[in-house]
Amino acid sequence: MQGKLIIFSAPSGAGKTTIVHHLLKKIPELSFSISATTRPKRGDEKHESDYYFIRTEEFLHKVAHQEFVEFEEVYKGTYYGTLRSEIQRIWDEGKHVIFDIDVEGGLRLRRKYENDSLAIFVQPPSLQVLKERLSGRGTDSLDKLEERFIKAEKELLYADKFDVILKNNDLDVACAEAEQIVRDFLSKN
Ligand code: 5GP
Repeated sequence: MQGKLIIFSAPSGAGKTTIVHHLLKKIPELSFSISATTRPKRGDEKHESDYYFIRTEEFLHKVAHQEFVEFEEVYKGTYYGTLRSEIQRIWDEGKHVIFDIDVEGGLRLRRKYENDSLAIFVQPPSLQVLKERLSGRGTDSLDKLEERFIKAEKELLYADKFDVILKNNDLDVACAEAEQIVRDFLSKN
């Protein structure tokens, strides 16, 4: 079967990963699209669970062989991409795909699968709060943080291109709202 695609996009630090994890726990028909990336592992991330952590050489080889439905150099020298085989793997399991992906990648997927996808933009309360969350994570160097801030500022401007803007002022409320939105979408033909 061909399932549906639920796309969560937001600037890094807006809370989308937490919301996506919540949905995966609550809605068993969903399965997470594991992206490929060339960035190093962070914290207790696991290969083939959080990401396929691969070398740049391998990533570019896959690009050349058209193995990605979308990919991007999200940060300078750091690539991220969605493998065609990953979406198929999930559909073959009879499930719908849920994505945690940057804003441009999200919009690209939305356009590509326009009849079967829902794109949700997670909006942080403010840029200031976003910066505090990103700094508080303590997992990035100052240089990398600055790069994430700059990208976040740009990404906030894309919100109205999405099907839904989900405000994340309170994480529990945002998770509950996300669940309702996704259940409604999945129940439609
Ligand atoms: P992080 O390094 O914080 O895990 O991710 C950085 C950004 O890359 C996040 O906005 C994340 O959603 C995005 N990202 C993760 N996977 C993909 C992907 O496959 N394609 C694109 N375009 N962005 C991705």
